[in-house]
Amino acid sequence: MSNINTIRNFFYPESVLLIGASSKPKSIGYEILRGMIDFGYKGKIFVVNPKNEEILGIKCNKSIEEIEENISLAIILVPKQLVIDSLKSCAKKNIKNIVVITAGFREVGEEGAKLEQELLDIAKENEIRLVGPNCMGLINTDEDVKLNATFAAEVPHYAPISFLSQSGALAAAVLNTIKETGYTFGQFISIGNKADLNENDFLEYWHKDDKTKIITMYLESFESGRKFFELAKVITKDKPVLVLKAAKTKSGSRAASSHTGAMATQDDIVDIALKQSGCIRVNTIEEMFETAKAFLKFSNLKGNRLVILTNAGGPAILCVDEAEKNGFEIVKLSDETKNRLRKFLHPEASVNNPVDMLPNADAQTYRKAVQIISQDENVDAIISIFVEPVMIDAFEVIHQLAEEQRINKKPIVVVAFPLPQFWNRWRVEGIKDAYILKSVELASVVLKNLHEYHTSRSLIQNEIVSFDKSQKEKIEKLINNFKFNLKGKNFLTSLECNKILKTCQLPLIKSHFFKKRNELNSLSRKINYPCVLKISSRMLTHKSDFDGVIVNIQSRKNLIQSFDDLLKNLKKKRLINLIDEFEIQGFFDGDVEVIIGGYRDESFGPVVMFGAGGKFVETIKDKNLLLAPVNESIVIEMIKSSKIYPILSGYRNIKKTDIKKLAEIIVKVGNLLNEFGEIKEIDLNPVMIKGKKIKIVDYRIRIVESQLEKKQK
Ligand code: ADP
Ligand code: MG
Repeated sequence: MSNINTIRNFFYPESVLLIGASSKPKSIGYEILRGMIDFGYKGKIFVVNPKNEEILGIKCNKSIEEIEENISLAIILVPKQLVIDSLKSCAKKNIKNIVVITAGFREVGEEGAKLEQELLDIAKENEIRLVGPNCMGLINTDEDVKLNATFAAEVPHYAPISFLSQSGALAAAVLNTIKETGYTFGQFISIGNKADLNENDFLEYWHKDDKTKIITMYLESFESGRKFFELAKVITKDKPVLVLKAAKTKSGSRAASSHTGAMATQDDIVDIALKQSGCIRVNTIEEMFETAKAFLKFSNLKGNRLVILTNAGGPAILCVDEAEKNGFEIVKLSDETKNRLRKFLHPEASVNNPVDMLPNADAQTYRKAVQIISQDENVDAIISIFVEPVMIDAFEVIHQLAEEQRINKKPIVVVAFPLPQFWNRWRVEGIKDAYILKSVELASVVLKNLHEYHTSRSLIQNEIVSFDKSQKEKIEKLINNFKFNLKGKNFLTSLECNKILKTCQLPLIKSHFFKKRNELNSLSRKINYPCVLKISSRMLTHKSDFDGVIVNIQSRKNLIQSFDDLLKNLKKKRLINLIDEFEIQGFFDGDVEVIIGGYRDESFGPVVMFGAGGKFVETIKDKNLLLAPVNESIVIEMIKSSKIYPILSGYRNIKKTDIKKLAEIIVKVGNLLNEFGEIKEIDLNPVMIKGKKIKIVDYRIRIVESQLEKKQK
């Protein structure tokens, strides 16, 4: 069976076997069975429990072997020490889909991890696909199945939204409050420890599943970030993927020795990976489900021109702030629209944006105003705020707005602040298809998400241009040679870096390398002044820290003097044996220094970075990232969003930078990382800029993993 069909069988099983069902109310084994029966599962339920004849009217089998019928899905909830035996029995019975709810595996330590590995080995041997362990089961609210195999209190109403949660407890929290929140979804899976199936498998399945229109995920880690990224890039073209990713803290676990590596946190990488693959990163559960609902409810939001309609000033002003923060333009209405509004609104109402209709605006007024505003071609979306005054029937207002939401071609988000009675009536009667939010902040964020889904498509790149064949062969040869020189260290010398980067045809400052003082004599006659003298060492890669960079040397005499001073100093500090060569560069009188770098993230693979460079790189923290490889247009977008860009685009006496030329360097750094797995980190810092002239004056390449990293793995 293909992966897609195997996973489908989890959600559409013809029969379900509960291994470990219990007769004790309030136990998980009892609650799951009760949940399945109560929700009205359409298939056949089987139960294994050697101690009982029947539970809740379902006959108990003494063992798995005793069952004669075919089983499509087994759910294991026996105590930890019995899980392996249960799995083996399932294998014998040829059950291919299994959910292990039982906890006490990898999450509790080494012993548990071993047990989990055993579980996985048995599954692999028998071509079983496993969900869990340590999870809370699954749900499919589709009328054809009505499967609730969780121990949560409530089940949502159906919607073509699918929901995956890495945490069982978080999913339980969502399900337990579903009556109040009104969140809706069709398929739900809790993936727990992800011993076998993980978020990538479900992402792939839901892409192909017709009943899924929106994919939502709560994740704490990515099994393989790079795979997720590659899948999502394709899937988000067809369906929105909303991701709530926890653990936004600095990881700090990576032993990073480059600026680039040290500056980017794991969360920065997650952020860019999601953005660059067209996913929408949400910050709360509420934002996730309300955005999902909005995607179903409203057709595409193509622009960012917003109108706020209200019957009260305060919330509308707050709404303006929030909307602008989220990238919306509070658009000017056309004169025609204003005139049409004036004709029926209160004489003191404001027909500017926000349109304030004053408290006596009733349901018909709201509806008519929304209609007129939506007909204005300068308008992409409306937020309609309603604060209930005593003389107006809130139910009728929401009802009319809901009608309009259903038929209008533009998104109309309703933010309502009704009196408490409203919600009582709402719970009983409801209003068909109404999309109401309870805060202006959320309204802006939801609309931003809708808008971002369409704009982020442009970030997804098609064409990547890499090195040609002969270039690639040359680089490969260089790297292979240099690997033998490493002497157990991780960094290349400046000379080695220079050779690789030159092969890539990167704009390096002109350099001469020499080893001995007697070479300096003839060299010093050949070069132009002013120049710069530097040490080249695989050990001392932060050269200035060892006084290893002398800039702006004006004459031959100065150069020789500087070299002698440098040598003396190195000898005094007992560093001379760590020097591989010396480098003389032309002095570049630049206006701006930027950093271009990249490294290999364990989960997401090659990443490139760009930002303000030089001495202040770690204080300014202008870190702009992209997963590599990249093409020029996406890189130009990135440069434009950097903190340094206002300076690069021309500032006082600083001339405009050749952005395309700068982007080419970043593309090549991305290609180097992407094509050559041995390269772990690259730092070009600084890349010096003066108008159209761009020169790389400092380079650092780390080529193998440090001993520390090897140990960590
Ligand atoms: P480090 O290993 O300390 O980072 P760099 O080669 O980056 O050494 O030199 C330190 C600083 O010296 C740079 O940030 C830059 O300001 C200046 N510098 C280095 N090389 C040149 C050069 N060729 N022309 C002008 N300034 C330079
Ligand atoms: Mg430097």
